[in-house]
Amino acid sequence: MQRWDQLSAAEMDMLRTIFWSAGTSRHALAGRLDCSRSKANALAAGLIEQGLLEETGLQASSGGRRPETLQLAQGLGVVIGVDLGATSLEVAVLRPDLGPVARHAEDADVRAGPGVVLARVRDVMRELLAANGISPKKVIGIGMGVPGPVDFASAQLVNPPLMPEWDSFSIRDYLGEAFTAPVFVDNDVNLMALGELWRLQRSLQNFMVIKVGTGIGCGIVCHGEVYRGANGSAGDVGHICVDQAGPRCHCGNFGCVEAMAAAPAITRLATEAAEAGESRALAELLKANGRLSAVDVGRPAATATPRPTRSSSAPAA
Ligand SMILES: [Zn+2]
Repeated sequence: MQRWDQLSAAEMDMLRTIFWSAGTSRHALAGRLDCSRSKANALAAGLIEQGLLEETGLQASSGGRRPETLQLAQGLGVVIGVDLGATSLEVAVLRPDLGPVARHAEDADVRAGPGVVLARVRDVMRELLAANGISPKKVIGIGMGVPGPVDFASAQLVNPPLMPEWDSFSIRDYLGEAFTAPVFVDNDVNLMALGELWRLQRSLQNFMVIKVGTGIGCGIVCHGEVYRGANGSAGDVGHICVDQAGPRCHCGNFGCVEAMAAAPAITRLATEAAEAGESRALAELLKANGRLSAVDVGRPAATATPRPTRSSSAPAA
């Protein structure tokens, strides 16, 4: 296995820059690394020789010479990403440049506890690798998102409202017994924010990502980094009280934003609207299926024509 700690700071800087800016030309890379093209080319040549980088096809350019692009070498191995939701799990095997190799998704219930759920996650990982002829030794890193607050340094959940049985459980130790690769665990919305940061090639330095699922969470990117706060719950906005007379939340308080607006609340309000005759479409779905889901509400909402607002109906200046 590659000894990353034997690389120079300049080499690590180049590998990181290439990871964060997939498909960037050599010319643009020298600019991002703030060094001359000849120095960048010499560094790249050394990393190609060590089997860490490889050249890929030609990049379209506006004319003249077509510059090559560089990417992390495919021979480095694979990374595994796990997305654990409150009611689902998804595992993906990815190339070092995060291109997908294989993925699998299925229903799961985090309330079954870490012993049951993580045993299944581990088995799905092994099955995906075996089905694609990849040895577990080729796994160079594992990242897992979970629907609750995480202490990033220890990779443990901290008092998670949706999954109390997981409190202080070490996911890293559990998966570390099956794989030698380093294991990183973070809150799922922090990872959505990190994913957006990567997709945008760090071009946006400050933004927030809101996820509405079984709960409501927020990922914060501040100065180009995911901001987790002192105990990993900086973006844990789901239990802010928005209505003291609101419904009781599973956390025990009343009128939390999560109790008012997450998927179970959307389903409850939709069922009430269907039963009160406020929506013929929802009433028909309820009659046909016996129950409504947040997806039943989302689909027609996505195709509905927005009502004209005061500003949009005003005459153009
Ligand atoms: Zn709450």
